[in-house]
Amino acid sequence: MPHTPNILTDLDVELAKRGSGRLVLGSWTVRLPRSFGFCGGVLNALNLLKKTVEEQQVGRLNGSAVQRLADSSGSPRTTTSAIGLVKADHPSPPTTHHSRILLLGDIIHNDTVNEQFRARGVVILPDADVPHALEHVRDGDTVVIPAFGLERDITQSLQALHEAGRIRLLDTTCRYVKRIWEFVGREAATGSTVLIMGKPDHPENRATLSRALTDGNAVVQLADLVDVAEFAATLTTPAPDGRMHEPATRNMQHETPPGVTLHNPDWFNPGALAFAAQTTLLYTETIEAERLLRAAAESAGAAFTSAATVCLATQERQKAALDLCTEGCDLFLVVGGFASSNTAQLYRLAAQHATAYFIRTADDFDAARITHYDPASKEMRSTGGWLPAGSAVIGLLSGASCPAGDVGGVIRKLRGLARRPQ
Ligand code: SF4
Repeated sequence: MPHTPNILTDLDVELAKRGSGRLVLGSWTVRLPRSFGFCGGVLNALNLLKKTVEEQQVGRLNGSAVQRLADSSGSPRTTTSAIGLVKADHPSPPTTHHSRILLLGDIIHNDTVNEQFRARGVVILPDADVPHALEHVRDGDTVVIPAFGLERDITQSLQALHEAGRIRLLDTTCRYVKRIWEFVGREAATGSTVLIMGKPDHPENRATLSRALTDGNAVVQLADLVDVAEFAATLTTPAPDGRMHEPATRNMQHETPPGVTLHNPDWFNPGALAFAAQTTLLYTETIEAERLLRAAAESAGAAFTSAATVCLATQERQKAALDLCTEGCDLFLVVGGFASSNTAQLYRLAAQHATAYFIRTADDFDAARITHYDPASKEMRSTGGWLPAGSAVIGLLSGASCPAGDVGGVIRKLRGLARRPQ
């Protein structure tokens, strides 16, 4: 009987995990890290969306099923309905055959997962259109905010539509992302300059920026550790008279280092700095960034505060991947969506220890060639003769947004290649 991969569980992955993360395939040993699979935030988002799709389908078949779940609340209540979990305290639009589930960007950064929802009728707004989401929302829609969160002003407008009974709103934002919002919002309110480390065009960082930037403070976006080091050096550049703050202000207003983006330069306050990092960065780099910034702030006489914002799931997966790296692998396959930040970090980690290929699924390789992604150059590459000829240990890493089914697919393909006649 053919093996049917499941999006959440996979027989081959289970077998590999039960065998102490080790599978012997011919002359190759495939190793899986101890911490593996979807994180809690991703699972929560997927389950909520799945439930909403099912409710919508029942509603279409049965006129008022969705309506009943959402409308029966004269007062706020908790319900097992995905839609009800958002807030069943407002009138909801009726479900008709025109009703759509509109997802504002990918639910998570994984093509397999998004395709499965698309196949079930979910409309996924391209990421480039999300800043103009309101132009795409129609009355009667169920609008879904993905796990990364959404910019504050758009969220507020959607909430108003929800409260007016024109749309349903399902918010799947991860609690770790919301924790960053609380921190940056609090610091922004005191006039601190908020320093955000992470890719500025990532949806999570756009959402964080919208909460960190007010009419009374500045925000500095730092894409990576190099930017952090440059910014830290700027802070400690003394003026001719030896004073620290004015030259830092002047530098940031007129000589922003490349890669560093300064918002609201007139409100740049070099005396009070607050640091937060994207949830899925390399944990060791965020610790180093914090150390550099704290030291620079101290020598400039500035107040400095930071929040531990790399999420626990990311830390655990990076620690498990690092253990695998140090135990020794000859080759790494890193499986996941190319837009996935946490998967890209696992690739960077693996590539420091052995040859590593970042692939989406098992479709990306055969015996002759492997097609893989380089996150640094953002280019696809094709490499021939990539498979080890003799005995080798192949490390298999995947991010918190990668379904076990995709990893299982890679194991099955490797098994087939291991059995092929040489
Ligand atoms: S990787 Fe971390 S921040 Fe992202 S959804 Fe998972 S738990 Fe939340």
